[in-house]
Amino acid sequence: MNLSVFQSPARYVQGPDASAQLGPELAQVGVDGPVLILAGGTAHRELSGVWQDSLAKQGLPVRIEAFGGQCTAEEISRVTAMARDFGAVAVVGAGGGQVLDTSRAVAADLDIAAINCPTIASSDAPCSALSVLYHPDHSFDTYRFYRSNPKLVLVDSRMVARAPVRFLSAGLGDAVATWWEARAVRESDSENQLHGMPTATGTALAHLCYQMLLENAQAALSAVRAQSVTPALERIIEANTLLSGLGFESGGLAAAHSIHNGLTTQHETADSMHGEKVAFGLLAELVLEGRSEQTIREVLSFSMAAGLPVTLAQVGLADPSAAVIAEIAERAVAPGETIHHEPVAVTAGSVADAIRVADEIGRGALTDQRD
Ligand SMILES: [Zn+2]
Repeated sequence: MNLSVFQSPARYVQGPDASAQLGPELAQVGVDGPVLILAGGTAHRELSGVWQDSLAKQGLPVRIEAFGGQCTAEEISRVTAMARDFGAVAVVGAGGGQVLDTSRAVAADLDIAAINCPTIASSDAPCSALSVLYHPDHSFDTYRFYRSNPKLVLVDSRMVARAPVRFLSAGLGDAVATWWEARAVRESDSENQLHGMPTATGTALAHLCYQMLLENAQAALSAVRAQSVTPALERIIEANTLLSGLGFESGGLAAAHSIHNGLTTQHETADSMHGEKVAFGLLAELVLEGRSEQTIREVLSFSMAAGLPVTLAQVGLADPSAAVIAEIAERAVAPGETIHHEPVAVTAGSVADAIRVADEIGRGALTDQRD
């Protein structure tokens, strides 16, 4: 019998101005030497002074380096060399997904502590034990998997509140799929993303994530539009970052993420964020699984209210040919894809049909909304 596996970051900290606590929080997880901080543009501009003060008070030498812009093998080598020269005992990634992915890769290469400080809540990557690498031309390169999750994830909710609302919306798209994918994994007795069986804990966290989204998403979007921190925003940051992260890794992934991967074969979808494509992938997953109309309507209205795409046109594919849909579906059912965790038999043909029907449902809902 396969073993059940659950894995998580060692420590998770969240709140307004949490950045000012970076020094004590690093000490709390045992960091006691030079720290290299790799920072995206906004984080570098707004937080460098705060970090310097906080780490100086803790007696931790710090070097802050600007991120090169993309998580590539070249950027990882550049930052790894820098961290080695500095004698860093920890690498902090601060900013969006690609900064964090790069910092985790550097920490793994040097076998030192990985610390993640996301400044947006646009995906569930910050808590995970993997990185997505790209080629310099922005095309997908490979995944890198690590032995452990970050030692510390620290989220400054004031930074999230000040970021463009589209980032939070995309995070809602990535998070809303978490429960339905974990449920498919559970129903089909499949493995989670840690190559173990899901624990009841992992699946329950995915469900809690969904409940928190239904109850707080609208109020959280309003908070970000007003650039303000509220309890609802705090709950959504936790759902998008921590619960969705634990839920997808320990609960498992299924069709929504595979259909996302299928959509990425079309360069027209490049302007849509990860969570936006996942949101459309989820609608197709629910159709593929034959879920009730009530379920599909619930998810559809959530996505529409969150400003997420519900049609192919909204992810950049206005009027795609049958060949384009077939290509997306073929990629989605490639060997090793998580769509094979579905509780129903899946073929390229059934996925293409589900994509077409999800698009039809979404277009109908948009027309109703306009009337
Ligand atoms: Zn995702």
